[in-house]
Amino acid sequence: MKVYINGEFFEEDEAKISVLDHGLLYGDGIFEGIRLYKKCVFKLNEHLERLEHSAKAIMLELPWSREAIAEAVCETCRVNEVEDVYLRLLVTRGKGTLGFSPKSCSNPQLIILSDPGPFYSAEYYEEGIKLITVPTRRLSTAALSPQIKSLNYLNSILGKIECQHLGYSEALMLNEDGFVAECTGDNVFIIQKGQLLTPPSSAGILMGITRQTIIDIAERLGIPIKETPLSRYALWNADECFLTGTYAEIIPVKEMDGRTIGKACPGPLTKQFTEEFFKLNSKDGVKI
Ligand code: PMP
Repeated sequence: MKVYINGEFFEEDEAKISVLDHGLLYGDGIFEGIRLYKKCVFKLNEHLERLEHSAKAIMLELPWSREAIAEAVCETCRVNEVEDVYLRLLVTRGKGTLGFSPKSCSNPQLIILSDPGPFYSAEYYEEGIKLITVPTRRLSTAALSPQIKSLNYLNSILGKIECQHLGYSEALMLNEDGFVAECTGDNVFIIQKGQLLTPPSSAGILMGITRQTIIDIAERLGIPIKETPLSRYALWNADECFLTGTYAEIIPVKEMDGRTIGKACPGPLTKQFTEEFFKLNSKDGVKI
């Protein structure tokens, strides 16, 4: 894998940033996970818009135009000669002094990594995944907006550690009010009596780009969709449940806190959303 750093490409072992980069010292930076499908960068514009919003939220001035970042993403795909890949785009605050004030940092670093997979086990997609609710709550929106895709993922990492301790590979995380927020790196949907339901932004979630894609598909297909607070009870008793994310794509959920979800996994609407999603993803983006 060749790694892009500020306009140059390096072999993986040669790709380096300063130990004084506040991205390393404090998780001070932002990122996007992006997917290339059949030489098409899926929803690139949406990812770059979210990156700009994250940057604005942490008052990190991006010294590159959206077009320049888009070109860097496409160039990374071309240089690595890939047709399908997961890309990780990071912007760190840059090198500074040991104090955490970003005032000492003047040179943000734009880094793009790529991972050709394989990603999650095929079993998750064919048979579904089991989820368990973990004690760690999603960060309160008042403390740190979950919409900022920051380089500090400790909240999710704690959720992951807790579910793994219990023998599960994915965790359901609740918000401080006890409503369903999201998984450690994926959004959650359920289907109840033909209606698609998902927690709203006020539940303290990342507004996933895959999540929005599913909402758009539902609207196009005339499937009623509602963004509404969800309890664990609603998930236990759902007809279907699935997770969405750039890395995960669409993963059906077969069990939640020991309760089997629905009659079959993946359920019929989950299958339909998955088919529609894969029809879109080599079209709805930027060709490299
Ligand atoms: N929630 C969290 C916490 C995430 O980190 C992610 C991305 N991995 C998502 C949801 C899904 O967002 P997207 O569909 O934009 O990848």
